[in-house]
Amino acid sequence: MPASATLSRTATLDETRRFMHDRLKSIIPEIEIEAKVELAHAIIERKREMNAVILGHNYMEPAVYHSVPDYVGDSLQLASIAAETEADIIVFCGVWFMGETAKVLNPTKTVLVPSDKAGCSLAEGITAQDIQQLKKRFPEAVVVTYVNTYAAAKGESDYCCTSGNADKVLQTLIDQGHNRILFLPDTYLAANTANELQVPYLNAQEEDAAFEAVPADQPLVIGWNAKCEVHELFTPEDVDNVRRQYPDAVILAHPECPPEVMAKVDVAGSTKKMVDYVRDVDAPRYALFTECTMGDNLAAEFPHRNMIRACTLRCKHMNYITLEDTLAGLEKLQYQVELAPDLIERARLPIERMIAIR
Ligand code: SF4
Repeated sequence: MPASATLSRTATLDETRRFMHDRLKSIIPEIEIEAKVELAHAIIERKREMNAVILGHNYMEPAVYHSVPDYVGDSLQLASIAAETEADIIVFCGVWFMGETAKVLNPTKTVLVPSDKAGCSLAEGITAQDIQQLKKRFPEAVVVTYVNTYAAAKGESDYCCTSGNADKVLQTLIDQGHNRILFLPDTYLAANTANELQVPYLNAQEEDAAFEAVPADQPLVIGWNAKCEVHELFTPEDVDNVRRQYPDAVILAHPECPPEVMAKVDVAGSTKKMVDYVRDVDAPRYALFTECTMGDNLAAEFPHRNMIRACTLRCKHMNYITLEDTLAGLEKLQYQVELAPDLIERARLPIERMIAIR
């Protein structure tokens, strides 16, 4: 599914210039756009010569998002594309765990992430050893890990999920009779998903007595203590401020935000859900409680929509991915994602199960 945000793989320099100026003129000064045009065109030529496909996450800076990717989207959309692509090289303009997911799903391809510094506080918040310990403590539990984890953690898991299908994955497991679900590592995503499904939630840091108090024949979601370093900064007062200044705004929030924030907003959902909502639902204005580049990218893509762009919370990991590094990545074939074959085997099943439950 090519995204509407993308520029043709055969675009000439003039077509690249026109597309970028048209898309970006309302959010980036013209002089800055012009400075990026030749760079973007060099990447487009290079990816064609090398039979590379470029995947761009929704949090990419506008000059990247609105120029070189063949596909843009959230983790789930891009993982599905990575699994099926016939390109020789997958360039993942996103963070490292996304490159790992692409490698697991399509291991014969060369997978590049343009920066080796593009980490994630959630992925770094849990290790394979942590999960092994949890499995010993809760041997009856099925293990679901958020896709924002490294392959070693996925390799210890039964299922993966994204923010786009966490509710469906958990509901499927509950319907199958699983009453103890370890949902790792994002404590807020786990609590928010449990709230949505009206299932009790406990953090694994609680004492044993707290778990024993929940009857074994009733579902319970058990979480971990990692947080997204960006989404955890949104507060209920931020919601109040937007409501006061823009009473007609629809507020959409990502479920990595704290539950007290989610309780006050109008729409909860993944970045894909936000894109779909802004495109399809008429509202006087929209406020996004997620990494703030999203608001810029949607303002550029849907200029007839009134996006509130007062937010300043950006992900430093996503921001490491630039056009300069993307070109260097293609020219030097860096930074390559390498995973041991046995880890690829162990991590593949939970990811494939995630994709199957869309
Ligand atoms: S926005 Fe949060 S979850 Fe996404 S890559 Fe950055 S730190 Fe990780």
